Amino acid sequence: MINILFAAKPERWTTYEAPLRSALAAAGIEAHLSQDIAPDQVDYIVYAPNSDLQDFTPYTRAKAVLNLWAGVEQITGNQTLKIPLARMVDPGLTKGMVEWVTGHVMRYHLGMDAHIVNPSHGWTVKTPPLAQEREVVIFGLGALGTACAQALLGLGFRVTGWSRSSKDVAGVTCLNGEDGLADALRRAEIAVTLLPDTPATTNLFNEETLAQMPRGAFLINPGRGPLIDDDALIAALDAGQIAHATLDVFRVEPLPQEHPFWAHPLVTVTPHIAAETRASTASEVIVENIKRGEQGADFINLVDCTLGY
Ligand code: NAP
Repeated sequence: MINILFAAKPERWTTYEAPLRSALAAAGIEAHLSQDIAPDQVDYIVYAPNSDLQDFTPYTRAKAVLNLWAGVEQITGNQTLKIPLARMVDPGLTKGMVEWVTGHVMRYHLGMDAHIVNPSHGWTVKTPPLAQEREVVIFGLGALGTACAQALLGLGFRVTGWSRSSKDVAGVTCLNGEDGLADALRRAEIAVTLLPDTPATTNLFNEETLAQMPRGAFLINPGRGPLIDDDALIAALDAGQIAHATLDVFRVEPLPQEHPFWAHPLVTVTPHIAAETRASTASEVIVENIKRGEQGADFINLVDCTLGY
C-alpha cells in the first residue's frame, strides 16, 4: 500500500478525489489517498503551489511532488524541495489552450472587432487576408506552444516558434535562443506568448523588443504576466506600435481594479481562464507518474528547478 498525500485547497479535493481514485484503480494501484497523512509516511505528494504545505523537509520518504498545475514558478525556488518535481502536462488543459489561442488569433486575423464588436464602423469593407498570408509567432514551443502551433498550421497560418533549445516541428519555422529572438520578433504579426515565468523570461516583451515587432502587431499573452513590461506595452499601444493586446495573465491576479489595462481601449483582459487542468485527464497523468515511481522508471514532465521550468 502506498500513501498519497493530496496537498491542495479543499475545493480541489472535491474535484479530484473521485477521478484520482478511479485512475488509481484503473492502474491497479492500491493506495491510501488522503489530505491528511503523517509526513514521514507519505510516498507521493499531489500538489498545488498555493497549498499550506510549503516545507517539504518532514516528507522524508516521499519520492516525488506531482504538481496539479502547468506553471511551477511558485515552487521551483523552494529550497526545502529535494525530490523530483513533475509539472502538469494534461491533454485536457492542452486542448483548452489550443481552443483559446486559436479563437483569439482568429479574432485578430479576421478583424472581428471592426465587423462584430464595433458595428459603428459601418459599411467599410476590408477583406481579411488568408491565413497563409499571416505570420503567427509562438514564443515558447513547449507542450502548449507546440500544440497551438500545429493547430494554427492546420488553419493555414505561417507559423514560427521560438524556444530556448533548438526544435524541429514539421511545418513550423523553429528559431531559438538569443540569436533567433530578433528574427522571431520581426516576423510576429500576431505574437502568442507561451513561455514560463523564469528569471530569463521576465520582461522579455519590453520597450526594445516590442519595437522590433511589425508595426500594428497583435500580442496575445496566455503565458505569465511577468513576461511583459506593462508600462512598455501601454506605451507601445498608445504609439500604435502594437495594435491590440489580449492578456489572460498578470503580475498580480486578480488584476487590480486600478490597473490601466482594465480601461485601455486596446487591451482585452481575460481572467486567467485560457486553459484549466481537467481533473479526469490530469488524474491519469498523476497516476502514470506514481506507476513509474513504483516501477523505478523515469518520471514524465520533470521540472528543472535550476532553469525554473
Ligand atoms: P513547457 O512545455 O515547459 O514549454 C515552455 C517553452 O518555453 C519551451 O519551449 C521552452 O524552451 C521555452 N522557454 C523557456 N525559457 C525560455 C527562454 N529563456 N528563452 C526561450 N524559450 C524559453 O510549458 P507549457 O506546458 O507549454 O506551458 C507554457 C506556460 O503556459 C506555462 O509555464 C504557464 O506559465 C502557462 N500556462 C498558462 C495557462 C493559462 O490558463 N493562462 C494554463 C497553463 C499554462 P525549450 O523547449 O527549449 O525548453
